[in-house]
Amino acid sequence: MATAAVTGSASGIGAAIKRRLEANGDSVIGVDLREADVEADLSTSEGRKSAVSGVLSACGGKLDRLVACAGLGAHLDDLALIASVNYFGAIATLDGLKDALSGREGAAAVAVCSNSARFGPFDDHPFVQACLDGDEALARELVAQENGFIAYGGSKHALSRAVRRRAAEWGAAGVRLNGIAPGSTQTAMVEALKDHPVFNKGHESLIMPLGRNAEPEEIANVVSFMLSPEASYVHGAIWYADGGNEAATLPDRF
Ligand code: NAD
Repeated sequence: MATAAVTGSASGIGAAIKRRLEANGDSVIGVDLREADVEADLSTSEGRKSAVSGVLSACGGKLDRLVACAGLGAHLDDLALIASVNYFGAIATLDGLKDALSGREGAAAVAVCSNSARFGPFDDHPFVQACLDGDEALARELVAQENGFIAYGGSKHALSRAVRRRAAEWGAAGVRLNGIAPGSTQTAMVEALKDHPVFNKGHESLIMPLGRNAEPEEIANVVSFMLSPEASYVHGAIWYADGGNEAATLPDRF
């Protein structure tokens, strides 16, 4: 039986991924603020250390699959918190558990990014650069002067690039690492966006060629495939599962 760890397992996409991997026969260690096997706060360095050590002790130091899914939406007022959870929490999870995956046959990890990573002036943004430099204090300071769109999309943009930057090192360690970029998915996060006085308009105007939000299970199905032996040559990739939103919005950009 394979052992997997999933952060953000108490709700939405993370909960659907946990259910799907369990249905596949995996033993899944859930990590979340509450209602999880490992209860830890990924917004702080102490919480991240406790999450990693909790998973390592639950899996005996040997992990087959990992999903870094915990995240916060653009609607929150605390923009620095978005950066700390979405980028630094995810990176600490991935890097902290890489050795437990190394050398395991078929080992694979997925970071839950977002299609919003492509929709902004993120390429040279100082906040994104501070994330990629691992400077959490500077990233938090810079993002606090921005808005929720920059905090959310920028943190996911940085996370996507961090996944790609790790392809050589993780490949050499025998661990496939990929990202998934979901589009609008029917979870508590999207409900909160719909209720927000500013982000509700952005959400209403989303171009969705399939004409609907994803169900969390539809994202979990793709993650399950990305972690499976059938995806054994998929590495360093960011896969869109967004109902055609990115293709319809940026049809000629690769
Ligand atoms: P959700 O709110 O249903 O679930 C998020 C989970 O993350 C919750 O269980 C929450 O407790 C956990 N979490 C938040 N802060 C945490 C912290 N400090 N420490 C530990 N756990 C923490 O939202 P969701 O829509 O399922 O989002 C899951 C992931 O998918 C996020 O990374 C989100 O950015 C990403 N995503 C969502 C959508 C969407 O439309 N719903 C689209 C693209 C990407």
